[in-house]
Amino acid sequence: MKQIELVINNPSGLHARPAKVFSNLAKQFNCNIQITNADKKANAKSVISVLTLGVHAGTSVTIEANGDDEEEAITALETAISSGLGEELNTPITESKNLSSEESVHVPERKNKQHADFHGVSGAPGIAIGNIFQYSKSTIEVSNSFTDTNTELSIFMSAVKQATYELTALQANVSDQSTDAAEIIDVHLEMLEDPELIESTRANIESGLGAATAWQKSFTDMALLISDLDDETLAERSKDVKDVGDRILRILSGHEPEDLLLSREGPIIVVARDLSPSDTMALDQTKVVGFCTTEGGPTSHTAILARSLGIPAIVSADIQILDIADDTEAIINGNTGALISKPDLNAIAEAKKLVAFYHKKHKDNLLTAHESAATKDGHRVPVFANIGTPSEVPKALLEGAEGIGLLRTEWLFLERLTPPSEEEQFIVMQEIITMLAGKPLVIRTLDIGGDKPLPYITMKQESNPFLGERGVRLYMSQQDLFVTQLRSIFRAAKPDLIRVMFPMVSDRDELRNLRDKFNDIRENMSAPKVELGIMIEVPSAAIMAEALAEDVDFFSIGTNDLTQYTLAADRLNPTVNYLADAIHPAVLKLIDQTVSAAHAKNKHVSLCGELGSDIQALPILLGLGIDEISVSISALAKVKALIRTLSLPDCKKIAQVALQCSTAAEVRHKIKQLSNN
Ligand code: PEP
Ligand code: MG
Repeated sequence: MKQIELVINNPSGLHARPAKVFSNLAKQFNCNIQITNADKKANAKSVISVLTLGVHAGTSVTIEANGDDEEEAITALETAISSGLGEELNTPITESKNLSSEESVHVPERKNKQHADFHGVSGAPGIAIGNIFQYSKSTIEVSNSFTDTNTELSIFMSAVKQATYELTALQANVSDQSTDAAEIIDVHLEMLEDPELIESTRANIESGLGAATAWQKSFTDMALLISDLDDETLAERSKDVKDVGDRILRILSGHEPEDLLLSREGPIIVVARDLSPSDTMALDQTKVVGFCTTEGGPTSHTAILARSLGIPAIVSADIQILDIADDTEAIINGNTGALISKPDLNAIAEAKKLVAFYHKKHKDNLLTAHESAATKDGHRVPVFANIGTPSEVPKALLEGAEGIGLLRTEWLFLERLTPPSEEEQFIVMQEIITMLAGKPLVIRTLDIGGDKPLPYITMKQESNPFLGERGVRLYMSQQDLFVTQLRSIFRAAKPDLIRVMFPMVSDRDELRNLRDKFNDIRENMSAPKVELGIMIEVPSAAIMAEALAEDVDFFSIGTNDLTQYTLAADRLNPTVNYLADAIHPAVLKLIDQTVSAAHAKNKHVSLCGELGSDIQALPILLGLGIDEISVSISALAKVKALIRTLSLPDCKKIAQVALQCSTAAEVRHKIKQLSNN
């Protein structure tokens, strides 16, 4: 028997993601592996069981392996834990932060005091009018009928098979609309294979319980164990267990999946205590215009799914909301977290006007989204899309992308136990290039760091991961990752269509080393010309842009990081969020300096941070001389439409005004004044 004691240093302890990496790794070994936290012991191969330990950051756990390959198992688990188990920090919700005045739609003031107001927290932005539907699922009654052990076991296993089939079909259905939904289904599929759940059901059946009762006992015990840990993130996991549990129970009791909206006409605002991912995904999205739950926060499944489906949502709403009668008309405002039931005619009329206005605006914008965008005076600005996975390419093209201006390649490397091979990466790059059918693609090489460690590389724990071995800094110690990625890109490259850019460059020597390697590999492979650029996202790179411009073909300004480093305000820390407005004159001055330096050397400058889709910032950016913009898919049509309303000389004047301001608030105030005139 081999045993080791280790401290879990993941910022949020052994939560879902690291627990999944941990137990998947454990599953690769034949030996029995247990993990212990204080007096609680769990099967290391069961992600659910690992979650029930409730391991928080800084907790010391003991791992015990017993069997042939115990030595290898302990070494592998130790390495994986010390390199962070592939954990990625949660990103805060930023949608509302950069909402421009135009987008911050407010429900019209309530004028008639008879109307009831309800409040909650914004879960997903947007405004809609619909009829309330109080969602409550019928409970599934199970009676304990037992035939014999083998029959009950096979009934249970075929229900698991049926659930797997249903979830796979659901995943295929939703993956186009929402990658978050697809990820949640992944977790559910994983739970269906959980050895601890399967084993305890088997044991219950062997003790004389029928398949349904045995399964119900196993999953409710497990869900209770998790929810008892009194931890908000884990509470969501216990709901996942319950959700998967109910699915199998329904199959075992012979019920067909319910379509609760079948007999109802849209538009519907669904109100519930809470909605499981399966509930949310099963609702007919052509009828639902809003979600409102009394439980859950902005990171609840309902909020995540609503955001990715583009449906307004309110979470943590007043409990009295559950008393509103079905079919009551209501206005939901996902931006402010307010719901008005029985709004008066004025309120409805105003809300309708706003909904119609924004709906029409997006529709109008889409009409011309496939045409190129130029200012009124003929200054052409290419607009590209930022994407994080290949599945987003079709949507980006539909919304008018002229190419991909930022392909974040991290998805290829995260949540796996071995690095992707050159062949695997080559195939993916080829697929993307084919989908783009001649449109350009800017590939950013791996931008991983202390905050997003990879299980297959050993990285030191860092107290300031954002200032540590992040982006290109990692390539020095992980040359293989860098070389393999470049080789796959060069193999897929088509002449003049592909550009490569490095993230987090902060120094000229660093850049030159990387550039030499880049050129050597390309020449050795006799690959076509591939433009090389760097992200300008570290203040030193912006300040030294003149020198760096000599070594590259282009710059792409990453305002998300440039803002966090310039204002020393961690982009993941909501407490300092008030400082991190990218329209801050300090950031604008760095952008100005970068563009001037690049243009003096005849190099072009793109901008791919969130600031590019901020409609107050766009005139400033064009005025500062940004040559092309890359934005999130949902902003493509809007950005193109806005460009067509601007004139370059005006933009230049606006940019000069902004550069003279001393705070972000002052910039926003001045821009508002100028656009009102
Ligand atoms: C940025 O920093 O602005 C950027 C586009 O990169 P990411 O958000 O991936 O760090
Ligand atoms: Mg960045």
